Amino acid sequence: MKNQRRPRREGAGKPFRCGNCSRQIETAAPGTANRNHCPYCLWSLHVDLAPGDRRSPCHGTMEPVAIWVKRNSEWALIHRCQRCGELRSNRVAGDDSPIVLVSLAMRPIVLPAFPLPLEEGLS
Ligand SMILES: [Zn+2]
Ligand SMILES: [Zn+2]
Repeated sequence: MKNQRRPRREGAGKPFRCGNCSRQIETAAPGTANRNHCPYCLWSLHVDLAPGDRRSPCHGTMEPVAIWVKRNSEWALIHRCQRCGELRSNRVAGDDSPIVLVSLAMRPIVLPAFPLPLEEGLS
């Protein structure tokens, strides 16, 4: 049967497959109303025009490129669409991989674009 009707609930979607690591992902996520990125590799999909509306025609994969810290010290991810280049800020979910989050946050320190003063203190 092709025309299976599902009750439409705002914000809650069906499980989806990560466009980067191919794992199956449940949309329910602790700490957010609507999961919009993979908890294992943190990649996302460009499917929203406004958060949660699923109306973007782009559907490019969105790479997690940075962490930023909100005023209430909550972490958020910056995603960049590989197809159209759009930047998006998304809340971190309670079960996002801590290792992947921290390694993303450390990236500018590990790969500095210029000599960091702290390197002098380590020798
Ligand atoms: Zn993934
Ligand atoms: Zn896009």
